[in-house]
Amino acid sequence: MAEELRRSRAGPVRSRRLLRHVRDVMAGPGSGQSRLNEVVRTIAADMEVEVCSVYVMRPGDLLELFATEGLRPTAVRRTRLRVGEGVVGTIAAEARPYNLPEAALHPSFASRPETGEEAYHSMLGVPILRGGVVIGVLAVQSRQRRIYPAAEVEALQTAAMVLAELVAGGELVSRDEFRPTAASPLRPERYDGLALSPGLAMGAAVLHQRRLGIREMVAEDPEAELERLNEAVTRMHRALDDLLVSADLGTSGAPRDVLETFRMFAEDTGWLDRIAEAIRSGFTAEAAVQKVHEDMRARLAQVSDPYLRERLHDFDDLANRLLRHLSGEHGPTVRADLPEQFILVAGNLGPVELLDYDRGNLKGVVLEEGSTTAHATILARALDIPVVGRVHNVLANVEPGDRVIVDGDRSQVFIRPADEVAESFEQALKARADRRAAYAAMRDLPAETRDGARVALYLNAGLSVDLAALAETGAEGVGLYRTEIPFMARSAYPGVDDQAEIYREILDAAGEKPVLFRTLDIGSDKSLPYWGLRGEENPAMGWRAIRVSLDRPLMLRQQFRALVRAAAGRPLSVMFPMVAHVSEFIAARRLLWREVERERAAGVPVPEPLRAGVMFEVPALAWQLPELLARADFVSVGTNDLLQFLYASDRSNPSVADRYDPLSPPVLALLRSVVEHCAAARVPLSLCGEAAGRPIEAMALIGIGFRSISMPAPGIGPVKTMIRSLELGPLEQYLKTLYNLPDHSLRERIRAFAVDHGVTI
Ligand code: PEP
Ligand code: MG
Repeated sequence: MAEELRRSRAGPVRSRRLLRHVRDVMAGPGSGQSRLNEVVRTIAADMEVEVCSVYVMRPGDLLELFATEGLRPTAVRRTRLRVGEGVVGTIAAEARPYNLPEAALHPSFASRPETGEEAYHSMLGVPILRGGVVIGVLAVQSRQRRIYPAAEVEALQTAAMVLAELVAGGELVSRDEFRPTAASPLRPERYDGLALSPGLAMGAAVLHQRRLGIREMVAEDPEAELERLNEAVTRMHRALDDLLVSADLGTSGAPRDVLETFRMFAEDTGWLDRIAEAIRSGFTAEAAVQKVHEDMRARLAQVSDPYLRERLHDFDDLANRLLRHLSGEHGPTVRADLPEQFILVAGNLGPVELLDYDRGNLKGVVLEEGSTTAHATILARALDIPVVGRVHNVLANVEPGDRVIVDGDRSQVFIRPADEVAESFEQALKARADRRAAYAAMRDLPAETRDGARVALYLNAGLSVDLAALAETGAEGVGLYRTEIPFMARSAYPGVDDQAEIYREILDAAGEKPVLFRTLDIGSDKSLPYWGLRGEENPAMGWRAIRVSLDRPLMLRQQFRALVRAAAGRPLSVMFPMVAHVSEFIAARRLLWREVERERAAGVPVPEPLRAGVMFEVPALAWQLPELLARADFVSVGTNDLLQFLYASDRSNPSVADRYDPLSPPVLALLRSVVEHCAAARVPLSLCGEAAGRPIEAMALIGIGFRSISMPAPGIGPVKTMIRSLELGPLEQYLKTLYNLPDHSLRERIRAFAVDHGVTI
């Protein structure tokens, strides 16, 4: 025990001493190269090893020996290793330390006889990191075969961090070598990225700045630094709370969950403990924040779990926030003098960083990284800000003030577009605004055809913010509430109370309008970050949706309990996804009833009326309709899945996803048969796939007999416009002539009908 204590104290002391010596050399006179030579001499002497060398990353992913104590001086600037080659190259590739008693035994060892290193056995090497990127390797070697103790590993990492300033400072190699290569800076550029949030936007580029320079790396008085850290953390918590209160995102729902998760990260004691530990080893509070952050970046960069990698951006955001509070800049990150309409260009964004910008002026976002599940993405979608991500190297090619167009519908970004391109985008933006205004004006008009047929238009929703569209569009209710979406936006599985809170909020927001809750549809493309699903070869046809729910009945029962409590005596409609056999529906409904009875027995007011419906997504149900309709209270057709199964054509595989047209004879014939069965059994029928939101498809659906369809909010205006211009009688007659045609698609025929009959599609 005493030995352990001595060792753990020896760590900070050794780090502190080495750090001080390295700092003194760095602050001393001489060129960059001469100071580097002095640093390797100092480290070798301090650590009592024969060799200390620095390799610097050069263009083409080559590590070049820049300074050495102990290896042959003639090898300096001659010996080079590719990233991944030799132990040094492996340290750079994996961005982590290697501690080897016999380096030559390592599988990737590469001999470099010109250095004379054969004489040495053990090796300890650490990456030199800057901004999470490896810019070099610092290594010590010794004739002795030994494992370097943890304190020495820590000390060498500490030295590497200080060295990073010298390596990247521009004295040894041009700073540009550490920047992504830039194309000609003034030409117009078009990039393809990944659409993360839909919509169009144009504005002047604002480059997101986050790094604060750190002036002092080493502190003499750790206690004073710890005090500064504590004060800054308190200030940061307070400022975050203020921001959460003022973020104006309603009282809960996914965006709020995102922010609260972020607040939780800010209180992560593991993170704060590591910073305190780094301070005890001799760093200033600022340098300690940066060091812990660099370590975390390097470690998380190796992780393949996308959820964990995404959390890195939350920590980026936090580290910068904490640095700002340490430096005494209490205000927001954001300058006041930003253009009136701007596009934010960033490597990546943390969720709270997005909110730092004035939402009136921030029109769009371009990210070099970014993913659909990132917290900033979820917020941007909720706030209706178009985002295109995965735009490689964009930061190297854009200057502040450049005109930028973000097309979140076509996954494109234009930098400095030619005037004609900008003009046509301006027109598209204006036309879009005009259309929105026209749809808004139609909000209270009925969705009724010219010959008097009424169609009920419902909304598909998944977040509480989506519910705002109920009032904006005049939709009759929520025809599909995807319960898995709020689950996906959370960092942990919500319990019954949390779920009840989510559902209650939805029902409250919907008021008198009905909501069809679909039970969890997880699996396939929808995974829960905290619930590792095993990888499946064909996940769309795998363990998902009702199959998971029936195999994990406790989960389903908890969901029912939460729904029943949220309804608190109000009407409740629940439907089950991916039912393939009527027995699955019976089993799920039985669980629902059982749960209702339990709640009733416990004195909880139970929903009235309670309706259990089924999603028609698996073709096998087409041959079980009489049995199903005798039991189901309603049916909703999910064409997104139905079509992929009907045509054996993966909806998420771009090479086949659009191979078959929903407007084709087999699809229309199948849907027509479902309409007839439901009408005969007097079971209400709706359709909630994406197709319902496209005017031409919606027209055909109404023509074959659907009187209720549910769609994403942007579809309601265009579909209502179509319905109000349609005369249903002739369309019904026309469609009857199409069911038996051998055509691959009926789209052009149906489009021609619309044009000939003045239907606005
Ligand atoms: C569908 O499959 O059509 C549907 C509405 O469900 P989801 O898109 O959520 O799978
Ligand atoms: Mg589906």
